[in-house]
Amino acid sequence: MRCEESAEWAERPLTELPGVGPKRAETFAAALGARTLGELVRVLPRRYQAPAQRVDSAAWPDGERVRFAGTVEKTWLFRPRGRRTVLGVRLTDAQGEVDALFFQQPWLRKRFEPGEEVELEGKASTARGKQLMAPRIVRPDEPVSEDWEAVYPEAGGLSAGQVAKAVQAALELLEQELAERGEALESWVDDPIPEPLRAQFGLPSLGQAWWQLHRPSSMEQVEAARRRLAFGEVLRLERARRAQLPPPSTAAVRAREQRVWERILARIPFALTEDQQQVLETLRQDLATGRTIRRLIHGEVGSGKTVVAFAMALALAADGRQSAILAPTEILARQHLRTFEGWLQGSRLRLVRLLGDDPVAMRRAALADLAAGRAQIAVGTHALFGEAVRFADLGLVVLDEQHRFGVRQKGALVAKGEAPHVLTMTATPIPRTLAWAAYGALEPCVLRTRPGSGAAVTTRVHLPRAWREGVAREMAERAAAGEKAFLVAPRIDGEGGLKALVASLREGPWAGLRVGAVHGRMPGAEIEQQVRGFAEGRLHALAGTTVVEVGLDVADVPQMAIFGAERLGLASLHQLRGRLARGAAARPARCEVFAAGEAYDRLKVLEDCVDGFEVAETDLRQRGPGVLRGLAQSGHGGFRVFDPVRDADLVAALRSEEIRNWLEDGG
Ligand code: ADP
Ligand code: MG
Repeated sequence: MRCEESAEWAERPLTELPGVGPKRAETFAAALGARTLGELVRVLPRRYQAPAQRVDSAAWPDGERVRFAGTVEKTWLFRPRGRRTVLGVRLTDAQGEVDALFFQQPWLRKRFEPGEEVELEGKASTARGKQLMAPRIVRPDEPVSEDWEAVYPEAGGLSAGQVAKAVQAALELLEQELAERGEALESWVDDPIPEPLRAQFGLPSLGQAWWQLHRPSSMEQVEAARRRLAFGEVLRLERARRAQLPPPSTAAVRAREQRVWERILARIPFALTEDQQQVLETLRQDLATGRTIRRLIHGEVGSGKTVVAFAMALALAADGRQSAILAPTEILARQHLRTFEGWLQGSRLRLVRLLGDDPVAMRRAALADLAAGRAQIAVGTHALFGEAVRFADLGLVVLDEQHRFGVRQKGALVAKGEAPHVLTMTATPIPRTLAWAAYGALEPCVLRTRPGSGAAVTTRVHLPRAWREGVAREMAERAAAGEKAFLVAPRIDGEGGLKALVASLREGPWAGLRVGAVHGRMPGAEIEQQVRGFAEGRLHALAGTTVVEVGLDVADVPQMAIFGAERLGLASLHQLRGRLARGAAARPARCEVFAAGEAYDRLKVLEDCVDGFEVAETDLRQRGPGVLRGLAQSGHGGFRVFDPVRDADLVAALRSEEIRNWLEDGG
């Protein structure tokens, strides 16, 4: 970044600070990566302490920072349970008494003479009578500060207080230097973001932001400063994203012809929804321009993403290019194979499968067909990553439900072609900010509507005991009457696991009903057999781990029970219930969610919230900053202060012409 800062000051070593010798300076370098004053003032405070309020002993606000004046009555030393010495000082005022506790500073005892007036500032506690924890002695006539106080992280042998002292001392030097030069406080560093852009969001300059972070006079100032830094992070990721955009691909030729395109669409046995049409139109334009597609197709379960993959594969095939459709599970791969086979009937295009347990001869033939370009479409699971898999001309990679694959694996598949188009399909309707941060998808394609029935799904969230106390019977009766049910348990083994669930159903209202079971450790063929039995009505219910989440497409299942829902996020639960009421003739469905304890309250929102994007936003809010830690682990680090909820508008701004132009001009 082009950050020119007040050079002399910023480059000066920490040893220029009072009380910092070479050894302490080394500690700062090791613990905080700060060798210079400029680096030191870029250490972020961890939190802020509210200004103290002046109180008397009658009003003793537990947990708050208070300033208290009283008369010393007595002092004593004690050692609670073998820990270090505590000094107690009993103070009285007109309303009553308060015990101030000083930790590990026995020598302070001589500062307190009985009968003397003192003023202290510390944290009020009411846990054991009125106490003032770890106070400091206030100088006579010292005014109560109205400022919030920055609290710094402890690191590598440095206490929070030592860091605070050093940072504040560095700022004092800076202040002096700027004053000598007659420059404004904020001018110590040039802000690379032009004033007009900052003004749009009411952001302070970079120099100002750091002052506000270290010496705020209100939490509004802190937030404004945080937002300025977050904007910097947003722009940094956006620049990186732009730098990684792939080189242009060969522009499609045949698929541009209306006739060819119409023939492709004619293979799809239903009318496309408006969203499907729009997404396909966007993609077709991408193909025509020769832009290499890197898009996120963002659509809820059942929104009809398969159609998009299918049409695009055929569009590529029209130009003799190949497509690879990668499914996260064998169930889903087989489902795609069935669908594609059906839609391809009478076509000369060749479809091959690559699954984990293919017979050797079949696999060998499939590999040969792909390498020679005789097959145009490959559908498979992780078997597609294999080194033996070669394509004559891989033009399109479709990653279905991609979060289940590793970055490296996906990369390996994409590397089998020369900058092939990549469509990532996700059924988790993630908020736009995360789509951008996690997938680099600034312009996701969204499928919002669910084709077909639109039959409603009613969700009820229960405490676990409700199952035994009535819901089990209700569901069993409906199952016996022909209303199929999914029974979901997040784990396979253990208490509350799938196996225990299936065993428990042999007694009580479910005894006598036929219940199949599927989980991730079963062979694919066996899973398929169970699923078919369920789809064809030979089973009343299908019990499963969340593998049922990833794309089982059984029409018209009107009931679902989800056990142990406390283990699942809102988004996963939403995805699970999306399995219900699929297909044109589907009946309205009920989803019964069982969640223990505190999760019950957290998940209750599912009862009223039916829109996937709304669920996703709520999920994000519930999970809080952990989301970003997750991002950092997946290789999208670099965020220190960016908040995907609070800073959504800053990400949205990247689409504005103003910012796009500025970035293109090297801003
Ligand atoms: P997704 O992969 O987004 O979860 P699918 O592509 O599996 O959804 O589609 C869900 C179901 O809806 C499938 O049975 C599919 O055949 C059907 N479907 C998709 N698009 C349409 C449409 N436009 N009209 C009717 N049914 C559709
Ligand atoms: Mg799908």
